[in-house]
Amino acid sequence: MTFELSPDHEEFRAVVRDFAEKEIAPHAAQWDRDHHFPVEVVHRMGELGLFGLTAPEEYGGAGGDFTSLCVAIEELGRVDQSIGITLEAAVGLGINPILTFGTPAQRERWLPDLVAGRRLAGFGLTEPGAGSDAGATRTRAELVPGAEGEQWVVNGAKQFITNSGSEITSVVTVTARTGTGEGGKPEISAIMVPAGTPGFTAEPAYDKLGWHASDTHPLSFSDVRVPADHLLGERGRGYAQFLATLDDGRVAIAALAVGCIQACLDLCLDYAGQRQTFGGPIGRKQGVAFQIADLEVMLRASRLLTYQAAAMKDAHGTGRGSVKAFKQAAAVAKLYATESAVTATRIATQVFGGYGFMEEYPVARFYRDAKILEIGEGTSEVQRMLIARGLGLPVE
Ligand SMILES: Cc1cc2nc3c(=O)[nH]c(=O)nc-3n(C[C@H](O)[C@H](O)[C@H](O)COP(=O)(O)OP(=O)(O)OC[C@H]3O[C@@H](n4cnc5c(N)ncnc54)[C@H](O)[C@@H]3O)c2cc1C
Repeated sequence: MTFELSPDHEEFRAVVRDFAEKEIAPHAAQWDRDHHFPVEVVHRMGELGLFGLTAPEEYGGAGGDFTSLCVAIEELGRVDQSIGITLEAAVGLGINPILTFGTPAQRERWLPDLVAGRRLAGFGLTEPGAGSDAGATRTRAELVPGAEGEQWVVNGAKQFITNSGSEITSVVTVTARTGTGEGGKPEISAIMVPAGTPGFTAEPAYDKLGWHASDTHPLSFSDVRVPADHLLGERGRGYAQFLATLDDGRVAIAALAVGCIQACLDLCLDYAGQRQTFGGPIGRKQGVAFQIADLEVMLRASRLLTYQAAAMKDAHGTGRGSVKAFKQAAAVAKLYATESAVTATRIATQVFGGYGFMEEYPVARFYRDAKILEIGEGTSEVQRMLIARGLGLPVE
């Protein structure tokens, strides 16, 4: 197994970097200030093929590998973490569950627009009382007879759901209790709820610490009726399906963290050469230079862990890898890269001194954006729990 990026991946990186520099970087600070979700850029990312990198050609995708998606997320995240997470969630939480668990009819209906970046889909697992403990979901869906056949009636609430209330959101898949399963445990299934279904409300967007240009809403469901065929995957397998989805998501979030660390390094290198104190550039002082050296170490280690996990995912897709080894690698990459990204933004802000505290410099935005990386798609504590279990420890 190798996890070196191929010349094709590097060529692709250059294309995404060019797009990110030209179409995103000049506007990132303004979108952040205005809490603006740039729909037009999502469409342009679609035209570039970013949403369809891993989707089959029959739905308009490129049928490419997961590593390419990580490269794209890293490069977008290097200039704007909000846009990076928009792509990550759109593919990882929106497209992938439909692609992996959907019926041919569900795929036909939803994927072409999602893959083209014309529309977005969200996935609602988290609830006010169920985050890390996602199995504690309270949202319910009951199958009842209707005039036009059986329908699911959904009641409940979800929170912190990415890409769930934008003007181009077409569908949100939610986990819900659909009965009682083995041993009296709740039976959890995944139900697709199209935007605009009566009773389904995307509440006003959150006022967040960071990711200001990413679309995040609480969702409420009050007697929401959808046809029986809106069940995604097997009845009672909703939770298990989502856990599988999250393994890939963890590597993609690690790639977003790599982009963040790379941005910190680039910004610091430039600034340390320019900023003068005591008659010379601050980069001449060991106290500053050594902090920047640490950024380089974090970047290399995070990148290796991330692309190793991505390569394992690609090998697994072709039947050559072990699922258990991939799960462990994904949790390790997510934990290490995201905690490094938070440290990297703290270092970068320090290197910039007082200017680093000013929104006029991008390091301030990266500082605010980084924290969520340690929380979303499984907190650092959850990653440590998974890693410890992977080592065979009987941790709860
Ligand atoms: C901007 C944003 C976007 C998001 N997007 C989505 C989305 O699209 N879809 C979605 O479903 N969710 C989404 N989330 C939710 C996210 O995945 C959850 O916030 C996260 O999983 C943590 O859940 P929680 O917030 O309920 O925290 P809790 O689970 O309440 O955790 C609180 C604290 O306790 C710790 N903790 C909990 N259990 C344990 C344990 N067993 N051992 C040790 N420590 C523990 C946690 O690590 C954390 O530090 C998003 C969140 C944010 C902020």
